[in-house]
Amino acid sequence: MSAPTRGAVVVTGASRGIGAAIAADLAGRGFRVVGLSRSGVCASGFGIACDVTEEEALRAAFARAAEEGPVVGLVNNAGAVHHRRSARLTTAEFEAVMRLDATAVMVGCREIRPHLIAAGGGLIVNIGSFYARLGVPGALAYCAAKAAVGAITRCLAVEWAPEGIRALCVAPGYIETDLNREALAGQELHERLMTRIPLRRYGRAEEVGRLVGTLFEGGMDFMTGTTLTIDGAHGIAE
Ligand code: NDP
Repeated sequence: MSAPTRGAVVVTGASRGIGAAIAADLAGRGFRVVGLSRSGVCASGFGIACDVTEEEALRAAFARAAEEGPVVGLVNNAGAVHHRRSARLTTAEFEAVMRLDATAVMVGCREIRPHLIAAGGGLIVNIGSFYARLGVPGALAYCAAKAAVGAITRCLAVEWAPEGIRALCVAPGYIETDLNREALAGQELHERLMTRIPLRRYGRAEEVGRLVGTLFEGGMDFMTGTTLTIDGAHGIAE
């Protein structure tokens, strides 16, 4: 058990990709990171094996996190993309995507709330996607779930402001990780994206990590409920 200097922040999906980068950035800023994932791997803090779609496991993981110090934050980052043309999308597939990418976010927020209140308030950062505002062929379920993440963030920011809890959504564009590495390796998609992303590159997980870490610094306490996009202007380009 370490002595946290700035409190504990729970990061879901911390084993790799964007979550690992967020965990590393927060640890570098002096937070005690508690990283959740199915594998339980967390290179920058204390790892707990937890499937975020299982409510009881999530509750137990948060209780364990509280033993590491006052819980001052949660980053709901765990997620997975799903591709299926809408005409063939089954109800079960749609619900599975919603369960991980949206329902688990709501449950995570609800279950972390008492811990944040016990710490005197805190910050929730939900990782959405710039897809939330787009209509992407073959990504109906993912787009719907990520749109829900923005809505969940807005509602909680309003409801829980009196309790000193702020909620923000971070919406990345294409960031090269395990989630999409194979797809982005395809020549045709890569060339198409390079004509569409004004900055002409994909984002790096470390860039999202730095943004989220910065949000946990003091001095921006009037900001809540909003979505911050980090996509190289992809989502606004004609
Ligand atoms: P990765 O596939 O690289 O990592 C996903 C992480 O989530 C892993 O740590 C994985 O760990 C964890 N995870 C997956 N399912 C579960 C589960 N049921 N319970 C607990 N942990 C789980 O993805 P990214 O880092 O790219 O994505 C992170 C977030 O960013 C996601 O929400 C994604 O939708 C979002 N995003 C990503 C973009 C991109 O271009 N990469 C763009 C926009 C948004 P384990 O397998 O050990 O469980």
